[in-house]
Amino acid sequence: MKHYDVAVIGGGPTGLVLAGLLSRAGVNVFVAERRLSRGDRPKAVVLHAPTLELLDSFGLLDDVYARSIPLERFTFRVGGAGTYSAEMTGMDTFQDGYRNMPQPILEGLLEKYALEYGAHIERGVSYLSHEATDTGISVRFDGHEDIHCSYLIGSDGPRSAVRESLGIPMTGRSLTSSYLLVEGVPQELVGRDEVGIYVGETGMVTMMPIPGDQVLVAGPAVSGLVLDRGADIPWSRIAEAIETLGFGSRLRLAEAVRTSHYSVDLRIADRMVAGNVVLAGDAAHLNTPAGGQGLNLGISDAVALSWRILAALRDGNSGVLSGYDEERRSYAAQVVKTTFVAPFIERIRATDDATRPAVQQELDELALSWSQLYPGDEHWNGAHYELTAGARVPTALRTAEGPVPFLPPSDRVDGSTLVLFEGEAPETLAIEPSIPPVREVRRLPRPAHGRVTVPESARGILVRPDRRVAQVLEA
Ligand SMILES: Cc1cc2nc3c(=O)[nH]c(=O)nc-3n(C[C@H](O)[C@H](O)[C@H](O)COP(=O)(O)OP(=O)(O)OC[C@H]3O[C@@H](n4cnc5c(N)ncnc54)[C@H](O)[C@@H]3O)c2cc1C
Repeated sequence: MKHYDVAVIGGGPTGLVLAGLLSRAGVNVFVAERRLSRGDRPKAVVLHAPTLELLDSFGLLDDVYARSIPLERFTFRVGGAGTYSAEMTGMDTFQDGYRNMPQPILEGLLEKYALEYGAHIERGVSYLSHEATDTGISVRFDGHEDIHCSYLIGSDGPRSAVRESLGIPMTGRSLTSSYLLVEGVPQELVGRDEVGIYVGETGMVTMMPIPGDQVLVAGPAVSGLVLDRGADIPWSRIAEAIETLGFGSRLRLAEAVRTSHYSVDLRIADRMVAGNVVLAGDAAHLNTPAGGQGLNLGISDAVALSWRILAALRDGNSGVLSGYDEERRSYAAQVVKTTFVAPFIERIRATDDATRPAVQQELDELALSWSQLYPGDEHWNGAHYELTAGARVPTALRTAEGPVPFLPPSDRVDGSTLVLFEGEAPETLAIEPSIPPVREVRRLPRPAHGRVTVPESARGILVRPDRRVAQVLEA
């Protein structure tokens, strides 16, 4: 039976980023993907700054720029109650705002990167089961002979067979209406720099610009409409329902090109790690499509997991994976919370002059969360994002003159980085042995005057490969 270091089940965005990062680090990776071809069914489109930064480190940014469009805000347009925007610009990155690119195109680029570094990707292969052996895990497939691996990753989406075979429940709830997506040509080409969320009396529709002067119209325009998996979408019925929202030609399509639908769940797996088997992406957590979080969250799981898998393979000890379980489930819970916007929509509907500033404040905070640049409530004190243990270290710091470089984007998963603030002597600092070991030392200016700060006593920070602070270094 052929042995691989890592078997990844599912070649969606999460699995492909894992395969790319691990192969790049010299790990022998097998990817099993059930679908024979990728298809062009509309799915997610929004790429937030951390994903763009990663794609930059993959050398794919030119391709991404050529095949996506830049956007600046999420705008809530509420019939009768005005317009409110979550501004996604002016953050601590060179990737100002976000970009819309259809998921199948992104997957194509990610697959190219993984193949370039030697990942073994097999299509038309379905995972069936696995069992522990004395030396690792043997995995059974439909469409491929059995393989043996040291670590098995279930990145096989919402109905994860890997998760089911582990008997791990997904705790949470499901929304009742099907979420509908229609890709098409708009009657009017308006609002190309925003995702517009149109809230009417009877429902809500999201209008997402995509390349080629097209749009993706999405939402529960038809409240209570539940479609079976694979059922055709009655486009005429959706068009009629959208019309009743009262936004006129702004939401009309001249032509509907493709449709799809899915059910929206707010759920998190009770565990993401079981011995040498790990869950990532939609296999482990599901949230609503608000703010375009799901795909980006899966990719950040892959980044958080890849260096730990590498460390576990090198040390022969899977203990390092427990931190992944704790951190990612906690972050997923925050994403589930910030994407459940129904109560916020009700507050917007009831907004008057007195409550408007509070609603805007809420949107400003939502923008920071949705950007995924500032994950983790505990690092945000209402005005500043403090680089204490677990915080994400930015690639650039925002100043009055624009962003200035900080820790550059990287696709290396094999070493931590020691950041010493300019003027500090390393020999005076107490540095704990880190996993993975320090491979790079950088002298950087101390973040001082912007949104990102460090504790006053900090002389430097130790940064993990997923750019989270491992330790604040004090004299
Ligand atoms: C119709 C639709 C619309 C969406 N719209 C949005 C949106 O607007 N915004 C947003 O943020 N998110 C949206 N999402 C969610 C987003 O697409 C997911 O969060 C994202 O795809 C997660 O990536 P993943 O790699 O974890 O899982 P997936 O993309 O689901 O990839 C899992 C892969 O595993 C494969 N697989 C499954 N079972 C097996 C098996 N037994 N063996 C081998 N392979 C298997 C599947 O074929 C698939 O390729 C949408 C999803 C759908 C379905």
